[in-house]
Amino acid sequence: CGIIGYLGSHEAAPFLVEALKRLEYRGYDSAGIATVHDGVLDRRRAVGKLVNLSDLLVHEPLAGKSGIGHTRWATHGEPSTRNAHPHKAGPVAVVHNGIIENYREFRAELRDLGVMPATETDSETIALMVEHYMSRGDCPRDAVERTVKRLEGAFALAFLFEGEEDLMIAARKGSPLAIGHGDGENYVGSDAIALAPLTDRITYLEEGDMAVVTRTSVEIRDASGALAKREMKQIKTDA
Ligand code: GLU
Repeated sequence: CGIIGYLGSHEAAPFLVEALKRLEYRGYDSAGIATVHDGVLDRRRAVGKLVNLSDLLVHEPLAGKSGIGHTRWATHGEPSTRNAHPHKAGPVAVVHNGIIENYREFRAELRDLGVMPATETDSETIALMVEHYMSRGDCPRDAVERTVKRLEGAFALAFLFEGEEDLMIAARKGSPLAIGHGDGENYVGSDAIALAPLTDRITYLEEGDMAVVTRTSVEIRDASGALAKREMKQIKTDA
């Protein structure tokens, strides 16, 4: 339902939780964040209000200056900690807004490969497919591109990878997603409200776009894989 991503110089967890609070107005049943710290990809998730996630983070903190966060409005699989985002499969974590209509096809394909999903969600199959392609030798970018090309339905996605502290990949079709540009920091958000206090410079991704984001660069490609120029908008933050 709500997505936030952060690559910066501060601890990511407090930033992510604050941004998720700004997305609360959209409604949600659970929330979670993932970070990469010393190369290790880890996550925390909680059902119910964001305060449950904050409380969990007090007892089980999550270090790292790269992170993604999500508030979930369940469509496939009951609201539960297990079904909450970020979903993780081996070296990849993903947050997803929307619905993957052909996820049963992926589940069948994964079953034939001996891969058992840990959740009932459509979203987890995205992480499992990316993991599968990476295990076959794809780099994160190629694995995401190969997976996204096969997805039917509506999605806004943000990915983090084990061992990659300066990489976030974002993609969208049918659900909105924007990149926020900072100084030595970059962000991803499902709407401008999530990003507004962080930056006044925003680029909205267009249908089928995929963005490879580092702290100092944003590379956007369109659905055909060609480099795309997207307008950077100046938004008012003092409104
Ligand atoms: N379809 C996904 C799920 O049920 C994402 C729902 C959302 O947009 O929050 O987990």
